[in-house]
Amino acid sequence: MARELLLEVKNLHVIYKADDETVYAVNGVNLSLNKGETLGLVGETGAGKTTAALSVLRLLPERVSQITEGAIFFEGADLTQLPESKMCQLRGQHISMIFQDPMTSLNPIRTVGDQIEEALLLHKKSLSKEETADRVDEILELVGISKTRKGDYPHQFSGGMKQRIVIAIALVCEPKLLLADEPTTALDVTIQAQVLELMRGLKEKLATAMILITHDLGVVAQSCDHVAVMYAGEIIEVGRAYDIFKGQNHHPYTIGLFGSLPDMAKNSSRLSPIAGLMPDPTNLPKGCKFHTRCPRRMDICTSEMPPKAVDGSHIIQCHLYGTK
Ligand code: SF4
Repeated sequence: MARELLLEVKNLHVIYKADDETVYAVNGVNLSLNKGETLGLVGETGAGKTTAALSVLRLLPERVSQITEGAIFFEGADLTQLPESKMCQLRGQHISMIFQDPMTSLNPIRTVGDQIEEALLLHKKSLSKEETADRVDEILELVGISKTRKGDYPHQFSGGMKQRIVIAIALVCEPKLLLADEPTTALDVTIQAQVLELMRGLKEKLATAMILITHDLGVVAQSCDHVAVMYAGEIIEVGRAYDIFKGQNHHPYTIGLFGSLPDMAKNSSRLSPIAGLMPDPTNLPKGCKFHTRCPRRMDICTSEMPPKAVDGSHIIQCHLYGTK
């Protein structure tokens, strides 16, 4: 199948303003995603993953946040320039988001059927009443919940079922792009595996492209075609899943992420976390943002931004690799 570009994020910068401080949350992110593909966006909490995703949907908190630079092209149109009325047509219909916590994503006083139906009533006005009801039944069955339960309220479902309902809401209009922000973090491992399997199946059935935000590299290995590693608002390594999991060269931060995972083959009693903390986003260091924690730091790292070493689709931003 020929690859067709769906989303292209170019040099995206996002800030938050709080009192007298400016938080530099996203600092020059470049990403691209083809139709039907899955990109894993990984990194520690506070790396800017959710902010980057919310920027695509233009759902950043009003007044305190701002896209200061860059562009986000979706099917050729720059989302940062679209009027709000156009964004309302895109949200839920062509681009959907699954949020981390299903408890706070669902409305407790409306039935799940009503909540799934809402997106159809907004975006698929040509459907008759019967067709809309059939579509709600169909998507419920697709996510493994009996259609007889569409009159129930969120509190009548378990955590895993609630997350399935959130997925049903996100997918009912068959979006071209799904942004899934830690969709399985609030779930136990058994339910997590079920939900991931469900999302993989639905993605294939509906040919939906997906950005999967997670700090769980195991989830990425199971689900993604490409992986982007984020640190302090920058993409410091990006490539095919094969490049990230099996490739020879890596950014020291990526090596640290893998090193902090338990290795079943080794009989070690302790994990090896990355030393130190993410830098203060209101006062980011000069040069490489990772230099305060990097075991391979050189003098140049503290003063000069690292270049991007490009090897096919595998890109590493680090002085160790120079510019290829
Ligand atoms: Fe470490 Fe320098 Fe590479 Fe940054 S640029 S990751 S400090 S070696």
